[in-house]
Amino acid sequence: MQHKVIVIGAGVIGCCLADELTRRGASVTVIDAAEVGSATSAATFAWVNSNNKTPEEYSNLNLLGLQAHERSASRGGGRWFHQTGNVQIAQSNDELEALQHKVEKLASNGYEVRLLTPAQVRELEPSLEAPRLTGGAFYPEEGWIDTLTMCTSLLNRAITGGATFAPYETVTGIQPNQVTTRTTDGTTRKHQADTIILAAGNGTRKILATAGIDFPTLEPSGTGAGKDAKNAGIGIISTTGPIASGMRHIVRATGIAMRPARNGGITFADHPTGGKWDIDDPRIWTVPALLLERARELYPTLKNVSTENVSLGIRVLPEDGLTIADRLADYPSIYAVATHSGVTLSAHLAEAVADEVLDGRRHHSLEAFGLARFETANL
Ligand SMILES: Cc1cc2nc3c(=O)[nH]c(=O)nc-3n(C[C@H](O)[C@H](O)[C@H](O)COP(=O)(O)OP(=O)(O)OC[C@H]3O[C@@H](n4cnc5c(N)ncnc54)[C@H](O)[C@@H]3O)c2cc1C
Repeated sequence: MQHKVIVIGAGVIGCCLADELTRRGASVTVIDAAEVGSATSAATFAWVNSNNKTPEEYSNLNLLGLQAHERSASRGGGRWFHQTGNVQIAQSNDELEALQHKVEKLASNGYEVRLLTPAQVRELEPSLEAPRLTGGAFYPEEGWIDTLTMCTSLLNRAITGGATFAPYETVTGIQPNQVTTRTTDGTTRKHQADTIILAAGNGTRKILATAGIDFPTLEPSGTGAGKDAKNAGIGIISTTGPIASGMRHIVRATGIAMRPARNGGITFADHPTGGKWDIDDPRIWTVPALLLERARELYPTLKNVSTENVSLGIRVLPEDGLTIADRLADYPSIYAVATHSGVTLSAHLAEAVADEVLDGRRHHSLEAFGLARFETANL
């Protein structure tokens, strides 16, 4: 008999899962309170990498994520996975020394990376005009994902394969084999399934709270949370209008990370400030201008472009910063996936979680990412 699965959440995790589960013959219903790919998955730098991640199990998981995206290219993934490679530059001898250590360490673990001379940096990025360039590193397998194209393409493929999508339906209650939802006109609905997968990002904690279950992800930051507080923090991502910048890769330098964007502009990640803000801190809105100014120092081609889009992203962050992918011990028909680096991890997590849900065996790559590591009594 067909295994019935409800996937709550149509972000990168939920859409990858919907596609994978449908491909493997499950009967899938995806429910989302809003639209496809519209929450954290819309406000992300979307860099696919396992660049300096710790501990080792998490680094390996991210590498599996990168490899799964590479494999997906033959099944349409080439439309959303832009495997441009990543150029990291050094602008002082100290930065170069630190980069050399990092490259040695990554290379000794088998990660694809090589050091670059200043001339080699310029060859890869001819439009870059970095003063005091002392060298760089190139990570050829890394890239970025156009998350909207990925989410909509995978969800459409799942629907074509028989899945059902219920947008604008908010899950208000959960039981072992049933979820209760509320539609925009206030109607209450019940959906039944053999397995319910929570891929609701920051909504997962709230959904489980309706059943009296504590879920170990951090609260998004609120008033007074501050940079050092234990909370998920708000990140800011900004994108310029279309511009012939000449930027060919993901490019990272002190104080900035940037990459080509889906609209033909350049997307910046909030690195100068550490990327962790209270949502009500007005200084967050100074970040896009700071980033554009810094980018123009490196790419004078950006002189005549302005910021076109700014989005605030609330990290999905388990308490220890690592991934959660596991059944709830007391409710084995409910499975939860919550993670930062979800763009990198999505394609692999979909395969591994589908194995677990449909074949019933724990996937070796997920052994370190269970719920048992949190000492939360009622999970
Ligand atoms: C600033 C920033 C930069 C980042 N950079 C990177 C990066 O470079 N590389 C990388 O790999 N990762 C990065 N990440 C992390 C990555 O973006 C996230 O891990 C990923 O998007 C999480 O996806 P998700 O599908 O779990 O959650 P979401 O995208 O948040 O999706 C969850 C969905 O669940 C729905 N939902 C919630 N509650 C309910 C409910 N009650 N009922 C029904 N539906 C509900 C929401 O509407 C939403 O559509 C970054 C994140 C941020 C914030």
